[in-house]
Amino acid sequence: MAHKYRSLGESGRHLRLGGYVGFDSLPNQLVNIRKSQGFGFNLLVVGESGIGKHTLVDSLFKTNFEHDQLDQPAKAVTLTSNTYELNETGVDLRLSVTHSRGFGDQVNNADGIKPIVDFVDARFDEFLQQEFKPSRDLKSWIDTRIHACLYLLTPTGHSIKSIDLLALKELSTRVNIILVIAKSDTVSRSELDEYKQRILNELDDNNIKLYSFPTDDSDDVAKLNEKLNAEVPFAVVGSRTEANLGGQRVRVRQYPWGIVEVENEAHSDFPKLREMLIRTNMDDLIGKTHHGHYEHFRQQNFSKLGLGGNADSTVSEAYNKKLAEHEAEKQRIEEAMRQTFVARVKDKDTELQRAGLELNQRFEKQMRQVKEQLKEFEEQDKRISTELEAIRAAMADLNKDKKKDKKTK
Ligand code: GDP
Repeated sequence: MAHKYRSLGESGRHLRLGGYVGFDSLPNQLVNIRKSQGFGFNLLVVGESGIGKHTLVDSLFKTNFEHDQLDQPAKAVTLTSNTYELNETGVDLRLSVTHSRGFGDQVNNADGIKPIVDFVDARFDEFLQQEFKPSRDLKSWIDTRIHACLYLLTPTGHSIKSIDLLALKELSTRVNIILVIAKSDTVSRSELDEYKQRILNELDDNNIKLYSFPTDDSDDVAKLNEKLNAEVPFAVVGSRTEANLGGQRVRVRQYPWGIVEVENEAHSDFPKLREMLIRTNMDDLIGKTHHGHYEHFRQQNFSKLGLGGNADSTVSEAYNKKLAEHEAEKQRIEEAMRQTFVARVKDKDTELQRAGLELNQRFEKQMRQVKEQLKEFEEQDKRISTELEAIRAAMADLNKDKKKDKKTK
């Protein structure tokens, strides 16, 4: 599986728009918030090779995005992303367009959707990792999550091809799917209406939910969205060829029998697609990606982060739970360390007391010995004194006897 993810420099590539696109017409307060930072929109385009993906995106943004042409059918499904900086009346749009290449070209198409699903999941995973970083900085983080998937169906056919059904089933739980019937100029209006109805029935039978334009507000946009919801999937036409019609340069497809104007609502649903995707609901698509699809992904991946599989937890609950567990563990370790320290001090204390006692006993013993020696010495002294006294007395007697003897002589 090869993913080519190319961001054209830090700020992307600046592209001039060939006319008014309308992404500056988000509700005023959103434009004001976004004006300073600009805003990012990530579009994924899926459909078999040659169905008109690149032409449609060029027509939507009224510019010609660069892309490599494939000469031969691709051997595997690959994804190529490019980032562009667009500006419209002071509002910057950082647009990332990811094209799937080779989808539906293989002999065995069963696994064709896997690289696309993996790509979408990997973008969610990047955001999840960022969200759980201790020093996260989501403000300067460039969000690469896919906000909308333009899924192109071939205009002919009695029903949706099984590869498209499989792909839509997988993708619709991950991204906002905007389903379009491409090259609608190649079939008649009545055939298109029948085809649209069959597509809706098949989606319903397979429980596949497409992105639905929000109708919960009571303003004009909600009314418009209600009308547009009833016309899905849009049957569109794209072109890179321009012609001068009534003094204006417009994108057309020229046929021997006449001209199909891309921007003409009488010719195709293309203007409705642009209206709902770029002018009216871009912010809702970004919001639903975050609060709906990403939330779903995050809950499914909770166990991977060791946060348990509690699907009702919010990020902050899970974060707080993890923090509380961490704090409790920290306290347990600190308490164990304190206990060990106290025990050691006690041991030392007892040892010191024992040593002190021993020293005392030895001192007292020595004192006793000294006293005994002293007593012995005193007795000896007394004995010697008595003996000396006796000797002195004996000597005195002896002297007396000697004097007596002299007198008698
Ligand atoms: P991709 O491979 O899906 O990106 O298809 P391209 O955008 O490169 O278009 C393949 C061919 O289909 C080109 O010759 C286009 O001019 C043509 N094409 C694109 N859009 C339409 C359309 O709405 N109607 C018709 N008839 N041809 C179209």
